[in-house]
Amino acid sequence: MDDDRDSLPAHYNDGNRAFLQALLARGTMTFKESQPILAAIFTAQDGAASGRRTEPSEVTQADFESYVSAASSALSAFDLEVRSARHQTTGTRVYAVVNTTSDALTQLATLHNAEEIAFVKRVIDAMFEKYNTPRMEVMCLDEMQANKLRGAPRPSDAQHLPPADEDTVMQEEHALRGLKSSEAEAVMRSMVAEGWFERSREGGLYGLSARALLELRAWLVHSYNDPDAEDGEWQRVKFCEACREIVTVGQRCADRDCGARLHDICLDAFWRTRGGKRECPRCARAWDGRHFVGERAVTETEAYRRGRRRSGKGGRSSNLVEEIMNEK
Ligand SMILES: [Zn+2]
Ligand SMILES: [Zn+2]
Repeated sequence: MDDDRDSLPAHYNDGNRAFLQALLARGTMTFKESQPILAAIFTAQDGAASGRRTEPSEVTQADFESYVSAASSALSAFDLEVRSARHQTTGTRVYAVVNTTSDALTQLATLHNAEEIAFVKRVIDAMFEKYNTPRMEVMCLDEMQANKLRGAPRPSDAQHLPPADEDTVMQEEHALRGLKSSEAEAVMRSMVAEGWFERSREGGLYGLSARALLELRAWLVHSYNDPDAEDGEWQRVKFCEACREIVTVGQRCADRDCGARLHDICLDAFWRTRGGKRECPRCARAWDGRHFVGERAVTETEAYRRGRRRSGKGGRSSNLVEEIMNEK
């Protein structure tokens, strides 16, 4: 359409189209990942005439950003845009194509059936509800814990709903039978392969990926936070004091009632902006760096270390994680 063409940068060309295609196929991209892709595009564009080959290392951050920005303009006609955030643990900036209008889980619908999507929803619920309490913000879970969520919820679970809704809920849930153990395992693996979940190297726990956090940000806040909460009240989805992105792996204020969170990768620069003073930006308590969000909320506890020693290094830790979370 002429309208769309008008909104694109004047120099938008086959190279931009090839880059956009690569970005869409992958869903996410880092600068490093873009280098061989852009080098091939530049070689095809300029090399045909001059015979010159562009090496990946010659592709600059500025090249990448200009292609990302052109791609983002091209996508806006389809209610898509390119958003970026730093990966919470590696610090690498990740760019993702994000749907700006649809329900967040719609993206999954193209690759998964209703049973699988319902299971994924239960897994994400568990990350943000069951395994995310004021006492312990673990926000991830292991294979065994995920496997326990494979059954469809029984209609009795929906009893708190008003009678008017009960029929529809019962009908919908009758249609769901849940997944077999092997199916649940396969879905967890495919969520990692598709870039929605990440598995920690340390404990092998599943959490949301940088892509999922970018794509689901608004949905997560809407689904798990209370819009009527008082200022400073504990909320399930919390943001970094430094970069304002969601924290599912990072550090928390030593005061359990304080909502301040920081990514490990944001700490150094943050303290520098505050004259090197390592204290909570909200309540001024000393920031001791020993209170965690993410799997370290469990793995850095004395109870976990004791339990690991008891069960041996390779021992399954799932029950241990549950035990520690349920301790009062
Ligand atoms: Zn941060
Ligand atoms: Zn604080």
